[in-house]
Amino acid sequence: MKYQVSIFNDLTEFLNEIKDRTGYDLKECYQCGKCTAGCSTCFAMDKTPNQIIRMIQLGMRKEVLESKTIWLCASCETCTTRCPREIDVAKVMNTLRLIAQSCPEEVKISSEVSDVPLMSKIFLWTVKYTGRLYDFGLIALYNNLSGNFFKDMMKGPLMFKKGKLSILPHKVKNIKAIKRIFKRAEELSE
Ligand code: SF4
Ligand code: SF4
Repeated sequence: MKYQVSIFNDLTEFLNEIKDRTGYDLKECYQCGKCTAGCSTCFAMDKTPNQIIRMIQLGMRKEVLESKTIWLCASCETCTTRCPREIDVAKVMNTLRLIAQSCPEEVKISSEVSDVPLMSKIFLWTVKYTGRLYDFGLIALYNNLSGNFFKDMMKGPLMFKKGKLSILPHKVKNIKAIKRIFKRAEELSE
């Protein structure tokens, strides 16, 4: 009996951790698959969004945190909108990324997606300082910091020609408001 209680605790530990962090009880998911049916990037994922939720229900913490899926999620929130159980699947994915990053000694991020956290940081950095995505800065910083110096280099001239790329950033007028949003978000995440 003691053995059975121990297994049960292990199974629910991850489920409870996600509930504490997101406010959503994933036991509510009945595996209808609507989240996956609407997901724009699930073709590239190693586990579909509903499989990730099921694995959390089963306490498969390491497998979930090491899946490529959590890094390939584009945070489009289609899954969240479609879920009949009103589970914010996008928020769950975001939370899983935060947990995976917080314990590098425990979680090994696949080399196929290990540059995604870097790309996300640079993306947010450009938004923080210009108020919008600064494509040229994003590409230049990402290529240099990731060591992929010549990645997508040949696309640059074509994008310049079509007016899709600008060397200088276009800042929004009220950049102070953007910085306040970032400051607030940083305070909330502490
Ligand atoms: S849409 Fe909601 S209930 Fe359906 S599988 Fe996805 S998370 Fe579960
Ligand atoms: S938020 Fe992520 S998991 Fe949900 S539909 Fe969009 S890409 Fe897929």
